[in-house]
Amino acid sequence: MSEGKQTSAGKQTSAEGSQHRDGRDPSGSSKRRPPRREWNRRTENSPGPVRAGGPANSPGPVRAGGPAKSAGTARAAGPSKSLKDGVCPISRKCGGCDYQGIEYEKQLQKKEAHIRFLLKDAVKTIHPILGMKDPLHYRCKVHAAFDHDGKGNPISGIYEKNSHIVVPMDSCMIEDENADAIIVSIRNLLRSFKIRTYDEDTGYGLLRHVLVRKGYATGQYLVVLVVTSPVFPGKNNFVKALRKEHPEITSIVLNINDLDTSMVLGERNIPIYGPGSITDELCGHKFRISPNSFYQVNPAQTEILYRKVLQYADLTGKEEVLDAYCGTGTIGIIASDKAGHVTGVELNKDALRDAVSNARGEKIRNIDFICDDAGDYLSSLNGLLDIGQKAAMPDVIIMDPPRTGSTPAFIKAAALSGAKTIVYVSCGPDTLARDLDLFEELGYEALEAQPCDLFPYTAHCEVVVRLRRFG
Ligand code: SAH
Repeated sequence: MSEGKQTSAGKQTSAEGSQHRDGRDPSGSSKRRPPRREWNRRTENSPGPVRAGGPANSPGPVRAGGPAKSAGTARAAGPSKSLKDGVCPISRKCGGCDYQGIEYEKQLQKKEAHIRFLLKDAVKTIHPILGMKDPLHYRCKVHAAFDHDGKGNPISGIYEKNSHIVVPMDSCMIEDENADAIIVSIRNLLRSFKIRTYDEDTGYGLLRHVLVRKGYATGQYLVVLVVTSPVFPGKNNFVKALRKEHPEITSIVLNINDLDTSMVLGERNIPIYGPGSITDELCGHKFRISPNSFYQVNPAQTEILYRKVLQYADLTGKEEVLDAYCGTGTIGIIASDKAGHVTGVELNKDALRDAVSNARGEKIRNIDFICDDAGDYLSSLNGLLDIGQKAAMPDVIIMDPPRTGSTPAFIKAAALSGAKTIVYVSCGPDTLARDLDLFEELGYEALEAQPCDLFPYTAHCEVVVRLRRFG
């Protein structure tokens, strides 16, 4: 999939997002500097542009207020009603939606054609793409940057491409509408609580960003206020006032980020209401989502994608399964119902910690997680076997690498392991095509591929491929 472990908040994205604009800097201030937010891929598995604001895939405009102080940006766009002919009024400044103004059916056709073009020589059967019934407001993770205009009025929205200028925005066609409304309510409360937004140039001010995460199946909302100090004036009354308008909020967290950094989230989280996290459910399993944890931004489609992964894995209850590049363990945990044993391997230790806690929370006993490079881990298993030791050799490998794809070391070790079935989940179809070529050289046939649209209005697409060992 596509979002990697997220190290900054934002929509999903990998930092690649931010495209370029006309390059003018009306402010002459440092706000024109390109965003440096990093998303580990998928850290966002996300595709797309990056900016702290829109998903990488995300489009998404920002919430509003007046024009950004130095930018002369567009006025607050009201919710979707301001879409003219289906086109978001600030799409050019935002840059999150590659397919702005294109009918959804056409978007799907374009994605499918692209996948067919890339995979036609590598995969026997390519199924029609699975799209969304309702492709709007699917993002369950919504981020807004905060700033103030020339008169000191708070504004909130997305960063203009390649800059730190906040383009005011109240709603975005791909973001959860309620999450957008929560952000507007927070902005409206700031004045009465005398909370100042952070000024990147001077370093003064308290509120830098707001991140809202929604549990798709549970309807729980987590609000993360990214602030420069743990001292938040009138904290209890602020919580009360916000929850009065939005009783659906089940947790509010102060995330302390006092560094001169482009990363959205700092490392310290202080819950000021509720447990500091929310829960969501995917394929019958519960997953905890905390401010920094990686979780797919479009859970509805993720569930469809995961079911396809399980179908292709074709487990009978006996198999040893390797969930390589496991992130927070979602795929492995879901597969554990139907496997003998699962081993999840992940390089990022924070993601791994979440994976362990997700499995514990679900009381799953037939899964273990290992913090290692996936290729090194599999090579070391092969090494054990070579010297006659016991090793949990996988019957089935499920792999879900970052957009950059897998590595020859991993693919060679996978082939050496003798796994009969490999299910490859990819958010980077070009690297997928490259990796499938190597798998073929090493004895694996790609039988079928299923494209799945997790990121409507962006050019990104997930694909699941079923590979079988020859003979
Ligand atoms: N399967 C998970 C996450 C996939 S994202 C899900 O569906 O949610 C890809 C993951 O690969 C990220 O969590 C990233 O940290 C991890 N990763 C990147 N390079 C890796 C490597 N060399 N070895 C193991 N894991 C790696």
